[in-house]
Amino acid sequence: MDVEKELDFIVVGGGASGFFGAINLARIGQKVLILEKFQKVLTKLAVSGGGRCNVTHNQFDPKLLIQNYPRGSKALLGLFHHFNPKDMMAWLEQAGVSLKIEADGRIFPVSNSSSTIIECFVNEATKEGVEIIKGCEVLDIVCQPNHCEVTTDQGVFKSKNVLIASGSNKAVWEIIKKLGHHIIEPTPSLFALNTPNSIFNHLSGLSVSPATISYNNHSFTGPLLLTHFGLSGPAALKLSSFAALDFAGMGYKAELYIDFLPNTSSNELLNLFTKETKTFNQIQLGLPKRLWELLLQTLNLDKNKPLNHISKNDKNRLIQALKKSAVMMDGKTTHKEEFVTAGGVDLKEINFSTMQSKLHPHLYFAGEVLNIDGVTGGFNFQAAWTTSYLISSKLNSR
Ligand SMILES: Cc1cc2nc3c(=O)[nH]c(=O)nc-3n(C[C@H](O)[C@H](O)[C@H](O)COP(=O)(O)OP(=O)(O)OC[C@H]3O[C@@H](n4cnc5c(N)ncnc54)[C@H](O)[C@@H]3O)c2cc1C
Repeated sequence: MDVEKELDFIVVGGGASGFFGAINLARIGQKVLILEKFQKVLTKLAVSGGGRCNVTHNQFDPKLLIQNYPRGSKALLGLFHHFNPKDMMAWLEQAGVSLKIEADGRIFPVSNSSSTIIECFVNEATKEGVEIIKGCEVLDIVCQPNHCEVTTDQGVFKSKNVLIASGSNKAVWEIIKKLGHHIIEPTPSLFALNTPNSIFNHLSGLSVSPATISYNNHSFTGPLLLTHFGLSGPAALKLSSFAALDFAGMGYKAELYIDFLPNTSSNELLNLFTKETKTFNQIQLGLPKRLWELLLQTLNLDKNKPLNHISKNDKNRLIQALKKSAVMMDGKTTHKEEFVTAGGVDLKEINFSTMQSKLHPHLYFAGEVLNIDGVTGGFNFQAAWTTSYLISSKLNSR
C-alpha cells in the first residue's frame, strides 16, 4: 500500500535528534512526520545516564565545549555559536523541565528521571502537531530534484525534505551510501578498558582522583575508577573515546600508563622520600591507603620501614610505580551509563550552515548518524540537540 502525505519533512528515527528536530521544525510551521521503527520512541534516551538522562553539560563557551568531541569538533564550533548547552537549558526550562547542574558539570532533570524529558518531548510534539508512526521501519530513500520518497515496511511516503536522524543504525547507513554519501567506518567509543592481568584489579571499587591515564600521545587526567576487570571512570572513558580508532585498529590490546600523582613531579617525590620521617604516609600524597599498600607490597617494600631508609633504587622503583605504572589493556567492556559509535556520514559532505546534504538539497542529517561523537558527560546529547535545532533555525531565518 502506498501512502502519500503532503509533508514538509519526514524524520527518520524517533530518537533524541529526530524528536528535537521535529518539534522545532513544527514550531516554525513545517508539517512533520516521524517514522520510528520500534513501537516505542526515545528508547535510548530512556536508558541514558543510568536512567537519569544527562541532557547536557555546564560548558557554554564553544571553544572549550568542542574540546569534548574527538570527532566533529571543527564542524561543531560554528554550530555551538547558534545553539549550545545554555540554549538547551533555556529550551527545556521554557517547556517546564527543571534542571540541576552537578559538581562535575553534568546537567540532569531535577526529577533524576529520563521520563521527564520523554514526557516533555512527547507533549511538545503533540502540541505542535508532529505526526508519529511507530513500528515503521524505513527501508529506502530516494531523492528526486524537488522531493524525496521514503519506502518503509508500511508503504511509501513522499515529502519535500527528509531529515535522517537514525543514530548509529547500520542498515540506514547502507541506505545513505546508496544516496552517494560516504560513511566513515563505525567504531565503538566510550568503553571501559579491560586489564585482565593488572594488580590494580585487586582494588576494585577504588577511585583515584585525579589520576592521569596515557596511551601514546593521548593523556587524560580526572577520576580513575579501578574495577575488578580493569579501568573505568571519566579519565579512562575519555581515553577510550579519543583513542577509539587506534584501539580498534589494535584489537583493543595496548600498553597504557597510569600516573597516580599527576600534580607531583618525580623530583618532588624523590625529595619527599629522602626527607621522609617516620610519620610519613600516603595521606601526605593524597593517595588511597589500599593503593599505597598494594604498590609497596608489589615492590617488596616494607610498609613499616621509613622511606629515607630504603635504597635510592627502591625509591626510584616506587616513584616509577606511582608516576608511570604500566598496564596491559586486553579487551573492552561496555560502559552501562553511556556509549556511542564513532564514525558515520562523512562531514565533508554536509553543509554545516544548514545541516543539508551537499549531494541532495532536500536531505538533512542530525545526531549520531553523522561522524560526530563526544566524551561522556552530556556532550553526545548536546551534539544531537544542536545539529537538529539548526535545521529549523536556519530555515526560519531564510
Ligand atoms: C546506554 C546509553 C546511555 C547514554 N547516556 C547518555 C547521556 O546520559 N548523555 C548523553 O549526552 N548521551 C548519552 N548517550 C548517547 C546518546 O544516547 C546518543 O548520542 C543519542 O541518543 C543520539 O541521538 P540520535 O537521535 O542521533 O540517535 P538515537 O537516539 O539512537 O535515535 C535514533 C532512532 O532512529 C530509529 N531508527 C533507526 N533506524 C531506523 C529505521 N530504519 N527506520 C525508522 N527508525 C529507525 C531508532 O530506533 C532510534 O529510535 C547514551 C547512549 C547509550 C547507549
